[in-house]
Amino acid sequence: MTTLGHLIDGARVAGEGRTQDIFNPSTGEVSGQVSLAGKATVEQAIAAAQAAFPAWRNTPPAKRARVMFRFKQLLEEHADEICRLIGQEHGKIVHDAKGELSRGIENVEYACGVPELLKGEFSKNVGPGIDSWSEFQPLGVVAGITPFNFPAMVPLWMYPMAIACGNTFVLKPSERDPTSALFIAELALEAGLPAGVLNVVNGDKEAVDTLLDDPRVQAVSFVGSTPIAEYIYARASANGKRCQALGGAKNHAIVMPDADMDNVVDSLTGAAFGSSGERCMALSVAVAVGDAAADALVAKMRERLTSLKVGPFSDAGNDFGPVITQAHQQKVCGYIDSAEAQGAEIVVDGRGVQVPGFESGFYVGGTLIDRVTAEMTCYREEIFGPVLLVVRAGSMEEAMKLIDDHEYGNGTCLYTRDGEAARYFSDNIQVGMVGINVPLPVPVSYHSFGGWKRSLFGDLAAYGPDAVRFYTKRKTVTQRWPSAGVREGAQFSFPS
Ligand code: NAD
Repeated sequence: MTTLGHLIDGARVAGEGRTQDIFNPSTGEVSGQVSLAGKATVEQAIAAAQAAFPAWRNTPPAKRARVMFRFKQLLEEHADEICRLIGQEHGKIVHDAKGELSRGIENVEYACGVPELLKGEFSKNVGPGIDSWSEFQPLGVVAGITPFNFPAMVPLWMYPMAIACGNTFVLKPSERDPTSALFIAELALEAGLPAGVLNVVNGDKEAVDTLLDDPRVQAVSFVGSTPIAEYIYARASANGKRCQALGGAKNHAIVMPDADMDNVVDSLTGAAFGSSGERCMALSVAVAVGDAAADALVAKMRERLTSLKVGPFSDAGNDFGPVITQAHQQKVCGYIDSAEAQGAEIVVDGRGVQVPGFESGFYVGGTLIDRVTAEMTCYREEIFGPVLLVVRAGSMEEAMKLIDDHEYGNGTCLYTRDGEAARYFSDNIQVGMVGINVPLPVPVSYHSFGGWKRSLFGDLAAYGPDAVRFYTKRKTVTQRWPSAGVREGAQFSFPS
């Protein structure tokens, strides 16, 4: 069994010290080990990134972009292998892994346009013979810390743009499914990144804290759960670093009485149960407006759930796979237990599901829970499993208030045929990413991704135009070349 190490200064480095098991959640078996970097190893990666920065910063943006073009091509050529690695350690079905990877590649495509994105701003003659411009300079060493649920895509939200902007990078992927991130980083080196520009350290809190405390790290991008996001933001900010920390979610879909219910059921099924509900944009709460809409929704969803197929990642006929660990499987089932104990109605119960031949896999079947209220634990907290809650509301205002009162504000969706209701909803709802009859309103790579409230700590969202701002600092230069004829002598007030 192999132990996954690190990628530092252009070479694989074997880990020393602590390790952790990596599981294949489809079978429940251990598939390998990952090394957990100590302080010295992380500092070695930071030093490599620091040393690579001056030359990379001065590499013309068009040349940096060319590396991204080659990187995109290599990602496409190795897509099958990457998707297999994702499936093996995360458990998502091959078609889902392909979707993840293609969303990641779109961010590399955006980074290919970096010469255009970094053009800056120029004003001629801001005063007599005086020109002024703003340019966007890289920060230096940037760190990225990523979650288990998109092991390929979320790192690709971060380092292609950070590196294309002229920074060097240290990535700390999730220790639960780290292999695809390391494999992809090696493709980035093969595409032409000089040694030290992109480094990967595997590890846990010790590695993260080293990145947060080291003065050579200028900025930190984080994606993960809200308690850790808040911690990362506070510690990185206290250490004077720029930080963006994307956190958890509880995404609601409002189902209006006039919605096309067959369309709602189709799209909610994919959005609630796809990837076993382990998506920060998963729609985990359906708020039906009026009992008639709620009854129709629950009846149709119950029927639909009987045909959902849960099973191992390698069978493309499955709709979704296992959850990430046995502990998480127990946690998700614990939320279903709590809903039952607190008076909700378990319409379809995914606890104790058995997948023949894969009895030790970490499976939870698709679960539908009706008559959930805002006080229940299953409603207040992020479950991150294949569980759809139904809340019944009397009006659209009541449904919107539920969403606005929730601590998270990542994504939301309104199902309706009424344009006026849709416009009111999208204008007023306190959520960062809004869908109208679109269940997973994940912005494309040339927009930016970010929730509101406790789903994002920081001012700038991930990828897209915000990434250019996050990974650069503005410098404004005002320039004059005085000749003997225009010298004005000392001035003691602003020129007017
Ligand atoms: P997590 O917070 O447990 O881990 C994320 C990263 O933080 C990992 O690299 C992990 O090693 C590190 N980490 C964990 N505990 C730490 C600690 N005490 N100190 C320092 N670092 C620590 O998240 P996860 O379980 O891997 O991912 C699932 C979560 O991520 C969900 O809450 C999901 O909503 C969220 N998520 C959010 C987005 C978004 O864009 N908002 C996207 C994907 C996932």
